[in-house]
Order: sequence, then structure tokens, then C-alpha cells
Amino acid sequence: MKQKKIIIGNWKMTPKSLVEARAIFQNNRSVAGKMKNVQTVMCAPYVYLSDLKKLVTGHRCALGAQDVSFEIEDAHTGEISTNQLKSVGVQYVIVGHSERRAMGESNELISKKVVAATKVGIITVLCIGEKERDDEGEYTKFVKTQLLESLAGVAKKNMKNLVIAYEPVWAIGKKAKREASPEDVLEMSIFIRKVLSDAYDKKVSDMMPILYGGSINQKNATGFFIGGEIDGLLVGRASLKPAVFTKILNIANEV
Ligand code: PEP
Repeated sequence: MKQKKIIIGNWKMTPKSLVEARAIFQNNRSVAGKMKNVQTVMCAPYVYLSDLKKLVTGHRCALGAQDVSFEIEDAHTGEISTNQLKSVGVQYVIVGHSERRAMGESNELISKKVVAATKVGIITVLCIGEKERDDEGEYTKFVKTQLLESLAGVAKKNMKNLVIAYEPVWAIGKKAKREASPEDVLEMSIFIRKVLSDAYDKKVSDMMPILYGGSINQKNATGFFIGGEIDGLLVGRASLKPAVFTKILNIANEV
């Protein structure tokens, strides 16, 4: 059976108001609802999640969070637990985004979050990616360590609740050095599958959705699908621009 493409929008710390969040969500949701080959997910700031959940209709467009605590409950001021996310209808969570790693999150902390979220059945989008590329291929070792350490302790039976997003830091956001090429992404999607196959087994490796994220737009999306052998995209800035996001969803539906 042909797997659906997964398109995840990471809204980061935008938009500024709930009114705008509702408008963007409604717009993207109505487009996503027509895409039978795509699972769309919108990862909004925590404060908007309960409200946006009321706008979710059907399964083609789901709601996600951008982080989660590994703690279960009690004295953790400012933290949000996996069960709290579930209780407001959140089905996906991004963990280990490079912007959080830059704030000091270690692979060890991230693995605890991955363990906690996959255990309760939230689809966990684990972000990995090197800060820079070098000619000696050190970046592949970096990504391998990041991947394996971030997965430490995850039960094999819960691997089905995992999605890997390869997001090279040098290609993300307004400060991106350059766009990645489909060849850059192909190399890493093959590499990540090999690491998973060696560390777990071929079944885990084959079934793992691998997404690419980094400055995705309507012009480069097709190339990543065709040349990058990926199962979907993690879209930052463009997920807040309904016209652009609509084009990306259409591309994912057609490829
Ligand atoms: C991201 O933040 O995950 C991301 C990929 O951002 P952008 O698409 O804006 O580069």
C-alpha cells in the first residue's frame, strides 16, 4: 500500500494572536482535507492547542505540539506533559528541534522525551541534523551519534510512533547558509536508514518515515520528494503562509 506523505508545519513562536492562528489553521485545514495522499500536521504554540483542536475535522489534518516534558506530573513549573497534550487532542509532537538543542537540550534529555511521548502513543517527530558540513564526512558521524543517543531507551514496540526529521541546521530558517540540494538529502536519508537498520533491524528501518526540513518552499519541494527519497517535509516559515503551504500540500499529494 502506498504510504501517505507527511507534511508537518512548525509554527514556532508565531502567529502573534489566537485570531490569526485560527485563520491560518482553518485555511490550511480546508486544503489539507482535500489531499487524500497526505497526512498534514500543524504544530502550533501550546497556548493555541485547545482552541485549534475544536477546528479539527477528520483525520487528514492533525494537531501537533512543538515540545513536551518527559516528566509525568507534579512540581515542574512551566512544563507540559505527554498526558496533558493527549488530553487536548494533540497527536504529534516535535522533539529535539535544533532551536531547542541550541537552548541546551542534550541528546540525553531528548531521548527521555522521545521515550515518554512514544510510550503514550503520541507520534514523535525527532529532529536531527548537523550544524555544518565538512569535506571529511564528520557530519555523518555527528548525525549518527545524535540519532542513536536521542533514541536511547525507546522500546522497539514503540518505534512505530516515531518519525525522523532530518534538518541540517545550516539550511534552516532566515539565517540559512544555503538551501540543501536533493542530493544532500538523499545521501542522509539513505544514511539514516542504514544506521537504523544496523542498530535495530531492516523492518524498523524500512517502516520509519524520514522527513526533510530546511527552507522548504513551493519551488524546491518537488525536488526533495523526487531526488531526496523522503516521506515528507517539516516546514517552518512557509507553513504560516497559506498560499505557499497550499502549493506544498498539492505537490506532496501529486508526487
Ligand atoms: C524548521 O524550523 O523546522 C524549519 C525547517 O524552518 P524553515 O522551513 O523556516 O527553514
